[in-house]
Amino acid sequence: MAGQGQPIFILREGSQRTRGRDAQNNNIMAAKAVAEAVRTTLGPKGMDKMLVDGMGDVVITNDGATILKEMDIEHPAAKMVVEVAKTQDEEVGDGTTSAAVVAGELLKKAEDLIEQEIHPTIIASGYRLAAEKAIEVLNSLAMTVEMSDRELLISISETAMTGKGAESSKRILSEIAVDAVTSVVDKNGKNIVDRENINVIKKVGGRVDDSELIPGMILDKERIHSNMPEKVNDAKIVLLNAAIELKDTEVDAEISITSPDQLQSFLDQEEKMLKDIVNKVINSGANVVFCQKGIEDLAQHYLAKAGIFAVRRVKKSDMEKLARATGGKLITNMDEITPEDLGYAQSVEEKRVGGDNMTFVTGCNNPKAVTILLRGGTEHVVESIGSALEDAIRVVGVAIEDEKLVAGGGSPEVEVALRLQEYAATLEGREQLAVKAYAEALEVIPRTLAENAGLDPIDMLMELRSQHEKGMKTAGLNVYEGKVVDMWQAFVVEPLRVKTQVVNAATESAVMILRIDDIIASTRTASPEEMGGMPPGMGGMPPGMGGMPPMM
Ligand code: ADP
Ligand code: MG
Repeated sequence: MAGQGQPIFILREGSQRTRGRDAQNNNIMAAKAVAEAVRTTLGPKGMDKMLVDGMGDVVITNDGATILKEMDIEHPAAKMVVEVAKTQDEEVGDGTTSAAVVAGELLKKAEDLIEQEIHPTIIASGYRLAAEKAIEVLNSLAMTVEMSDRELLISISETAMTGKGAESSKRILSEIAVDAVTSVVDKNGKNIVDRENINVIKKVGGRVDDSELIPGMILDKERIHSNMPEKVNDAKIVLLNAAIELKDTEVDAEISITSPDQLQSFLDQEEKMLKDIVNKVINSGANVVFCQKGIEDLAQHYLAKAGIFAVRRVKKSDMEKLARATGGKLITNMDEITPEDLGYAQSVEEKRVGGDNMTFVTGCNNPKAVTILLRGGTEHVVESIGSALEDAIRVVGVAIEDEKLVAGGGSPEVEVALRLQEYAATLEGREQLAVKAYAEALEVIPRTLAENAGLDPIDMLMELRSQHEKGMKTAGLNVYEGKVVDMWQAFVVEPLRVKTQVVNAATESAVMILRIDDIIASTRTASPEEMGGMPPGMGGMPPGMGGMPPMM
C-alpha cells in the first residue's frame, strides 16, 4: 500500500494510464470506429474506398483487410480489430469486412450491457457460449459440395468476387479460378490445395476476358537470341544457377601481350572455354536452358547454333517454381550436369502477349503447376482484378478442402440469431442477456447489406426473420431487387469456413477488448541521459492526470 498520505508513483513520467469504465469506453469506441469505417463497403452494393498513401499512390478497393491495412491505425484496441480482418484474410481470404463489422457490433452491444451494470467478465463468458452455439448452428446449416460440381464451385467464386472491381468479368474469372484450383488439388484421402502451385502473371494490355489458364509456367522473358528456335517440343531443361561467362580472375592478374599472335591465342583460349561450357550443356542432352544469371554473347551464339532455346536472368523465385514444375534440379556447377538433373516439359515456346514476348513452359512433369495469365486494360484494372481473383482462388480452395457450404446474403446470420435467441431462453442469469446481445449483433450483417443497397433495414430484417421462423433456413436478401429470396437457389453460396472464422475471430477480439480494464501507455523509451538522473519508473505525476489516486 502507499505510505501515509504520500503518493508513490511506479510509472515513468509521461506514462498514460486509463482505468476501469474509462478504459473500456475508450477501447470500445475505438474498435467501433474501425468497424464503422469499413461498414459501407459490405456486400454487392457496398461502396469503394479510395486510399491515398504518403507517396500519393492511389488504391481503390472495398476489401476490408486492404482498407484497414492501408489506414495506418494507431489506437491499440482499434489495431486489434484490424488484426481480426487480417487473420480472416490469412485464414480464408474472404469475409474480412464481415469480421470487422461483427466485432464492432459485439462491442457496441457490450457497451449497452455494461451500462446496465453487467460485468464485462459475464459478457465475455456469455459471448463465448454464444459463439460456440453459433458454430454448432452453422455446421448444421452446411451443405456438401463435391469437387466435381464445377457449377457450384463457380457460384462460390462469383459470390466472393461480387462487389469487387471484377464484377463484369466475374464469370470468366471464376471459371479460371475453379479450373486452376481443381487442377492442383492433392487428393490424398483429404483434399489439400497448395496455393503455391497456382501462379498468377499480370499483364497490362488486352481485355480481362482475354485472361487464360495455362497448364504450366509462364516467364515474363524472351529467348536471348533470335536464331534460337521459337518453340521446342519435348523440352529437356537445364536450370542453371550460375552464369555462362568467363570467370573474372580472382586475383588481379596482369596479362602482358607482346605480339598480335599472343592476343589471338588469348582470345582463342577464351572462346574455347565458353565453347566447353556450352558443350557440357549439349552433352547433357538438354535443348532448353533457363539461367538465373547472365549468358555471354559468344555463348549465346553457340547455344543458338546448337538449336538450344535459352533464357537468361530468370528470377530466383521463378527458377524454384520451374524446378518444382519440370522436376529439374537447380545446377550451380556445369561440370555436374547429368541427364537426370534435367527437367521436362512437352513444350517451351515464346509467344507474344500484350506487345511483349513471354516464354510458355507447358505440359510439365508435374501437372500440378498452373499459371493464370491475367489481362486488363490498365495497371489499376489488373491490380484490382488480381486481388479479387486471389480471394476467389482462396475461397474455392477452402470450399474444396472442407467440402462444406452455406448460403450467403445474410441468411446464415439471421438463422443463427434466431437459434441463439432460443438458446438464450434456456439460460439463467445475466449470461442470458449476453447471448441475446450476441444474437442481435450478428444481425448487423443483413442489416448492413440492406442499408448499403438503399433498402429499409428494419423492413428487410422483419421479413427475413419471419421467413426463417417459417423454416426457410436459406432465406436471404436479394439486394438488387430488395426482396427476400432463397439464397441457395440464387446461387449465392459461401464456404462454411468463411462464416465460422468470422464468428471465431470477431468473438475472440471482442472478448479480449472487453476484458481490458487498465490501459498503461508508456512514453517512448527515454534516452540513457534522461534515465541517468532518476531511477526508472519514479517520475512525478503524469500530465493531465491530476487528482488520480496513488498508483499501486
Ligand atoms: P467481406 O469482406 O465480409 O467478404 P463483402 O463486401 O464481400 O465483404 O460482402 C460479403 C457479404 O455479401 C456476405 O454476407 C455475402 O453473403 C453477401 N453477398 C455476396 N454476394 C451477394 C449477392 N449476390 N446477394 C446478396 N448478398 C450477397
Ligand atoms: Mg467478400
